[in-house]
Amino acid sequence: MNQLLSVLVHTPAHSPLRGPLSYLSPQPLPPGSLVRVPLGQRELLGVVWDAPSAAATAPAAERLRPLSGVLDGIAPLSAAWRELVRFCASYYQRSVGEVALAALPPQLRELSSAQLGRRLKRHAKAPEPGSDGPQIAPESIAMTPEQARAVAEIAQNPGPFLLFGATGSGKTEVYLQCVQALLAESPQAQALVMVPEINLTPQLEARFHARFAPRYGAQALVAMHSGMTPAQRLQSWLAAHSGAARIVLGTRMAIFASMPGLKLIVVDEEHDPSYKSQEGARYSARDLAVYRGRLEGARVLLGSATPSLESWHHSRPTAEGGRYQRLTMALRIGAAAGPDQVGAAGALPRVRRVDMNHQPKHCVLSPPLLQAMAERVARGEQSMVFLNRRGYAPVLHCGDCGWKSECAHCSAFRVFHKIDRTLRCHHCGFTERVPRACPACGNPDIAPLGRGTERLEEHLAELLADVRRPGTASALHPMGEPVRIARIDADTTRLKGTLAAQLAQVHAGDVDVLVGTQMIAKGHDFRRITLVAAVNPDGALFSSDVRAPERLFSLLMQAAGRAGRDAAVGGHSEMWLQTHYPQHPLFEALKRHDYAGFAAQQLLERQQAAMPPFSFQALVRAEARTQEAAQGFLEAVRSAAPALPEAERLLAEITIFPPVPMTIQRIADMERSQMLVESPSRAALQRFLGVWQETLHLTRAEAPGRGVVRWAVDVDPLSI
Ligand code: ADP
Ligand code: ZN
Ligand code: ZN
Repeated sequence: MNQLLSVLVHTPAHSPLRGPLSYLSPQPLPPGSLVRVPLGQRELLGVVWDAPSAAATAPAAERLRPLSGVLDGIAPLSAAWRELVRFCASYYQRSVGEVALAALPPQLRELSSAQLGRRLKRHAKAPEPGSDGPQIAPESIAMTPEQARAVAEIAQNPGPFLLFGATGSGKTEVYLQCVQALLAESPQAQALVMVPEINLTPQLEARFHARFAPRYGAQALVAMHSGMTPAQRLQSWLAAHSGAARIVLGTRMAIFASMPGLKLIVVDEEHDPSYKSQEGARYSARDLAVYRGRLEGARVLLGSATPSLESWHHSRPTAEGGRYQRLTMALRIGAAAGPDQVGAAGALPRVRRVDMNHQPKHCVLSPPLLQAMAERVARGEQSMVFLNRRGYAPVLHCGDCGWKSECAHCSAFRVFHKIDRTLRCHHCGFTERVPRACPACGNPDIAPLGRGTERLEEHLAELLADVRRPGTASALHPMGEPVRIARIDADTTRLKGTLAAQLAQVHAGDVDVLVGTQMIAKGHDFRRITLVAAVNPDGALFSSDVRAPERLFSLLMQAAGRAGRDAAVGGHSEMWLQTHYPQHPLFEALKRHDYAGFAAQQLLERQQAAMPPFSFQALVRAEARTQEAAQGFLEAVRSAAPALPEAERLLAEITIFPPVPMTIQRIADMERSQMLVESPSRAALQRFLGVWQETLHLTRAEAPGRGVVRWAVDVDPLSI
């Protein structure tokens, strides 16, 4: 007797097939089983979903197709995993099939049952945990009192926890200790540790490996991020799913790892925007971590030196409505305990502001900053200069006719890259050789406007041309060797392995001055850097984006955290800011290393303006060939809202703002428009978006003539 099964498959975003599909199976299969099913001419991977209702069986049962196969070597996905996927789809307004299938390793979709069978056999043959080499006890570290207190609190309370620890206060050691306690306590327990960027995984991986491989075997630790090959990703996934991997270390996608013994989730640098997906289901892995923790009874530990204002607000005292437990570690490792640790060995760097109003006109690097860098070189120390813009210059410009290097396909300028003499659009990728003369008037004298990291590197080399490295005098360089400048940004690290090689050079001391984008400001543990400089941080001070100050503050705090990590040289480490607004409260707070003060002031502003976390937002975005069509689509769904079920009640708590063009209005010849939906109640917003979704689908389906190509909802958007 054939059984009726509901099966989730991956269906395209705007497909009318949004729920599970029905198939026949000769045997009953529990929900969560992985199967292959026919769809049209194709055969797809599917996940057996909850039992279909009786009503669904009635129509057209005779037309249903049978399953093509069952991946029976893989245990069904757990109820908790399915609930996580269901919640994510519902909260972020996507189809369950899309979320479920995107959460599985891509290779699972491609391999035939036979190929998979071979893979599983190989996997089973992998050595048992702990069987590789002698079992050395992990090096044990004496925790600082602050660390010990945090670890004890985490053991004794349910959480979620916000570990608010200064850069270099030893947060990672707290993660290691918590994981260690967990693994020792139960042989089945698993821990998930997330970092914001692939670039930061190797470092953390090395520390976890050093700690846990000796006792639990190298296989006990697996990585999960998009830089891995499909085969590696499948292998990690299987290891996590089978319980063989005790620790999963990954980027945001790892939040969906199937882990039967999950007992701890760590979200390092929880404030980082990379935790929010910007495509498909626009989920926040940090927020899902908190949800998943509650769902599975796993402890959740969010860590940051500059928490997101949302998490900070959630960790206010319980009496004021806080839901997270805040654990503070204010002292840097190696810093003497005391009220003023600024400037002391191992302490936080002194913040110095250069008032650019009093510097020579058009100067990019102010004389006092250059002087300070030259002194560093003379002492054999390193400096780091960052500027958040890659390329040579953001625009190429003709002084005669006013031509600028606009992109033909986007409402943005193409960036001049001198190294290969190209104009590249950083939005759509459109690239051309730099013209010999102005394309509009023929003037041969077109010039770069503004400055990116490539130009800054060149400029620094000129300005520091006379500075010599100490103790390097030789026959070849009687006065000593010239300064070594290196640049790290997305352009210099395009090839796999180049970032690691460049970082190794910095660590080895082969670099005196490191230039780069925010890529170098985050996470990397540079021991001998005693000067960090932000060349032009002013842009974010007056941005229309409410989160711009928060992001700038955390970036500068993180960058400052790169300096003076080595107690031997840290005593005089400095963070330099070149600004036209030295008295700005953001810089004042930064000077005091006062995240709490900064956050309090920001939260007050947010509260007065009824912005998140005091309200809840969603953006509906539409893309079309014309701006008119994109806005027309949004206007149509907006005006349909009052006719929806429950509309009267829901709309009392919801504001739908009129559609507007997005900041970058056109990308790759697609006009973009968006509409903000806001509510003081998360529940009301969720319910409203739920009933509204059908309208979005129908409006697009009913009006193909309007030319709306795509729409998407972004719940809890990071920028507006
Ligand atoms: P964070 O993650 O807060 O930036 P880390 O965990 O990376 O800080 O710690 C900073 C440095 O201090 C690291 O080199 C780490 O090995 C070291 N460290 C951490 N905890 C201790 C400790 N209890 N004793 C000695 N060194 C420590
Ligand atoms: Zn011209
Ligand atoms: Zn473009």
